[in-house]
Formats: sequence, structure tokens, C-alpha cells
Amino acid sequence: YTGKSGSQLLTEKLKKITVQEYQSIPVVVHEESSVYDAISSMFLEDVGTLFVVNKKSALVGVLSRKDLLRASIGKQDLESLPVSIIMTRMPNITVCEKDDLIMEVANKLIEKQIDALPVVKKRKSGDYEVIGRVTKTNITKLLVDLSHDQLI
Ligand code: ADP
Repeated sequence: YTGKSGSQLLTEKLKKITVQEYQSIPVVVHEESSVYDAISSMFLEDVGTLFVVNKKSALVGVLSRKDLLRASIGKQDLESLPVSIIMTRMPNITVCEKDDLIMEVANKLIEKQIDALPVVKKRKSGDYEVIGRVTKTNITKLLVDLSHDQLI
């Protein structure tokens, strides 16, 4: 018996869990896509956040549900409005890497008041390839998994 309390064991366990164990598949749209197509992708792929990439597949932006709603209540033609006009763009994007601690991501989601982070891999050119997605749902899944654990 280690003499450690349940909460000490939980903290130790949490500090070992990395992004790659709880990430989902990212859904990306091209920067020249229309807002109309982005809305279609969001429904078809059943996600709340889309990542925007350029021709080199580098991360250039993020689109949330509200970004798309905001654009939709304007008078603009959604089929001719490129997502690059309305997205949140680099370098103002909060990202994570596969070996980061999942708790660091949870902190970023709360601090920045956002729903998702792209999991990226830095390329030699300095830009980011999008390899995954971590959302509040992934963090909730982690919580459920921990509650099934014998430790607690
Ligand atoms: P919603 O706007 O639908 O509530 P979010 O809370 O995720 O969804 O997004 C809030 C704002 O933050 C949006 O303008 C969105 O573009 C932006 N955003 C979302 N995710 C990120 C991120 N990882 N980095 C920077 N900005 C983001």
C-alpha cells in the first residue's frame, strides 16, 4: 500500500495522459471554400469546429458554429463568401501537439473559452499540419473513463 490518497493517485494518473490518447479526427476545409460549403461540412461531418487549411495543407484558420451563424445573419451571399473572410486566423489560433498533457489542453479550452483545439505537427517550413482535434467532448470522455477506474 502506497499510502497515497485517492486524489493523489488521480492527479498522478492525469499528469500522464497525453493528447494522442484522447484526440479525434480533424475535419478541415480549404481556405477558398465558401461559407455555404463549410456549413454543409459541419452538418455532414457532425462536428462543431472546422479547421481551415491552405494549398500546402497548412493550418490557416478556425471556424466555429457561431462564426458561421454570424456570417449567415448578414446580407452576404454565402455561396460566394470565402471562409477566409470570417475565420479566426493564424497566428491567433490556440493549438496543441500529440505529446502534450490532456490537462494542459483542458486548461487552454477554459482559459480561451473555446470548444476545440487542433492537434498540429510543426513542419520544417514552420507551418502546422493538422493531425487531430481535441474538444470538450474528448475531455468529458476522459472524465467518464476515470470514473470507471478502480483508483477512485
Ligand atoms: P462558438 O463560437 O460556436 O461558441 P467556440 O467557443 O469554440 O465556438 O469559438 C469562439 C470563437 O473562438 C470563434 O470566433 C472561433 O473562431 C474562435 N476559436 C475556436 N477555436 C479556436 C482555437 N483553437 N484557437 C483560436 N480561436 C478559436
